Amino acid sequence: MRAGLVRIKDSGADWVHMDVMDGHFVPPISFGEKMVADLRKQTALPLDVHLMVEQPERMIPNFAAAGADIITFHAEACVHMHRTIQSIRAQGKAAGISIIPSTPISAIAEVLPFVDLVLVMTVNPGYGGQELLEFCLRKVSQLREARKAMKLGFRISVDGGISAKTMPLVAEARPDVLVMGSAFFEASDPSALVACAHSAYLSGAVC
Ligand code: ZN
Repeated sequence: MRAGLVRIKDSGADWVHMDVMDGHFVPPISFGEKMVADLRKQTALPLDVHLMVEQPERMIPNFAAAGADIITFHAEACVHMHRTIQSIRAQGKAAGISIIPSTPISAIAEVLPFVDLVLVMTVNPGYGGQELLEFCLRKVSQLREARKAMKLGFRISVDGGISAKTMPLVAEARPDVLVMGSAFFEASDPSALVACAHSAYLSGAVC
């Protein structure tokens, strides 16, 4: 994990995105709040914690105390989304909501005014190295329109299947945040990949 963090720091990436998996919402189990607390001691970069867990509301206090800056949970895993968002914000953290590929934007429409980030999954969550599902990018455009119409300020993040190859396509949809996993950790020059992500909006660069 330490090597991974050094790679992230050295690359010029802006945030550290951490996928927490509970073996229920998604089949694998990854790590819990202890890992977040350990990384918190080693970096000042924002820790963007993505909870791929059932009943995320039970875990908010622990991840907040561990030092997460942004806590994102899944709409599909939570009955009381508004209450959970309030709970995250009450701990002084930014609140994010995520949707899997089969969930439409309408499922989170009522809580958009209360979130700091919307995470659009562009693969079915649980496993790294999957192919980007292009149809999900339409939701980025829909969210941009909703944000403008409602005069809101949440960020739009995209997670899953993002690589040098798919980045131009993803950039066309104009999300604010690109999350990279396998492509970043397997890249021979991760800083070039990050530079490309940073410049993708300015130049329409193809990496
Ligand atoms: Zn994630």
